[in-house]
Amino acid sequence: MLFYSTNNKELKSDLKQAVIHGLAADKGLFMPESIPVLPQGFWDKLPGLSLGEIGFETLKHFFCPEIPEEDFRELTNDAFNFPVPVVPVSSSVSALELFHGPTLAFKDIGARFLARVMARFTKDYGRDINVLVATSGDTGSAVANGFLGVKGVNVFVLYPKGLVSEVQEKQFTTLGRNITAIEVDGTFDDCQRLVKTAFMDDGLKEQLTLTSANSINLARFLPQMVYYFYAYAQAVAQGHNDIVVCVPSGNFGNLTAGLIAHQMGLPVKRFIAATNINDVVPKYLVSGHYQAAPSVATPANAMDVGDPSNFIRIQKLFKHDLKSINEVISGISVENDAIFSTIKKVYDSEAYILDPHGAIGYHALNKCLKPGEHGIFLATAHPAKFPKTVERIINREVEQPDRLKAFLNGEKLVENSSDEYEELKRVILDKAL
Ligand SMILES: *Cc1c(COP(=O)(O)O)cnc(C)c1O
Repeated sequence: MLFYSTNNKELKSDLKQAVIHGLAADKGLFMPESIPVLPQGFWDKLPGLSLGEIGFETLKHFFCPEIPEEDFRELTNDAFNFPVPVVPVSSSVSALELFHGPTLAFKDIGARFLARVMARFTKDYGRDINVLVATSGDTGSAVANGFLGVKGVNVFVLYPKGLVSEVQEKQFTTLGRNITAIEVDGTFDDCQRLVKTAFMDDGLKEQLTLTSANSINLARFLPQMVYYFYAYAQAVAQGHNDIVVCVPSGNFGNLTAGLIAHQMGLPVKRFIAATNINDVVPKYLVSGHYQAAPSVATPANAMDVGDPSNFIRIQKLFKHDLKSINEVISGISVENDAIFSTIKKVYDSEAYILDPHGAIGYHALNKCLKPGEHGIFLATAHPAKFPKTVERIINREVEQPDRLKAFLNGEKLVENSSDEYEELKRVILDKAL
C-alpha cells in the first residue's frame, strides 16, 4: 500500500517513509491510497476474535507485506494487550472503556502500536530516530510509555512548566532510559512552536533524524480503528443494533480512524463528533465553513484544539463533499457546565464515574440519540486522571488504579529549557548525540 499526501494526491510514499517521517515532503498528511472493504469471512469470525486478532485482520491491509504477516500478528497481539470493554451505563448508552492501558488513556493504543512499528523500521535504518512531542498532558505519557526501552529511538517530551496536572507529569517524567522530559518555561503553544521550529531546522535534521508521534503520524491514528470493530462485536453480542458511536474529539484522529473502519464495512449507523466549546468542526458541519480559532481552556483539556490537524483527512475520506459527510457525521459542542452536571447526574443515577472527556460523549448521546438507537461513547480517559475536577463534583475519592500509584511514587527527572529555540536545541543535541 502507498500513502498519498493530503496536499498532493500524486505525491506518494511507501509505509516505511510515511512512518519514519510522519509528514509528507510537502508538509501534507499521509492517507492510504485506497480503503479495502473487509471480506465476509472477517465478519463471520469477528465474534470470536480478540482485540489483537482484529488488529491483525484489519490493519494487515495497510501494513503487510511490508511487515511480514507472521511478525505483524505478533506485533498486534503485543500492542493491543489490555481489555477495552463495552460497559452499559444506562439502558440506551454504553461506554467503550479505552482507559485500561498503561497510562489510562486511549492514546496507549496508538502509541504502543506506533512504537512497535517504528522499532521494526529503525532496526535497519542505520541511525537513531528522535521522536519529538509537545504535550498538554495525555500525549506525552502515552508516547513515552509506548516507546520506553525501544532500541534505536530517543523520545523528547516537551511540556509547559506548571501547566500539566501532577498525575500527568509523573507519567512521563519518572521513566528515564530513552525518555527525556523537558520542562519548558512557557505555555503549551510555546512547546508546539518549539517542536515545529525543530522540524523546520535543516541544520538539526542533518545531525539527527526527527519524527513526530502525534496523530498526524498514520501509524498512530490508524490502529485506533481496531476498537471500533471490537466494540461493535460486543454491542451486538449484548443484543444491540442500530448502533451510534459518539467520539469526544480534539484533533479528530480518533474519529478519523472510526470513519475508515466504517468505509471498510463496519455497520455502525452513524457517528457523533462531540467537542467542548472549541467547536470549529460542529460549526463546519452545519455551515460548510471551516474557521480555525485560538483554543480555549476547558475541563476536558485534551480536547482543547482550535485547528484540528486531522480534519483534512476527514475531508479527503468524503472527497470534500459536505452532503456525504453529513450523512454519516453530526456534530455537537458541549459547554463546561454540562460537563460538570453530566458527571454528577450519571454518578447519582447510574453510579458510573465519568471523566470530563467521557462526560462530553455521554451528554452528546443523551441529546442526539433517536428512539431505537443504542449509543456507545468512547470513554477516552480514566476519571482518576482528573481527580480535582471529578472528586469535587461527586463528593468522594476516585480510586487510583495500582499502575497510577506506581507512577506517583516515582522520582521526577527532567531537563529544563526556556522558550528559546537555541536553548532547547542544545538540550536535545546533548542527549541525542
Ligand atoms: C487526545 C484525547 C482526546 C481527543 O482525541 P483526538 O483523536 O485528538 O480527537 C479525547 N480525550 C482524551 C482523554 C484524550 O487524551
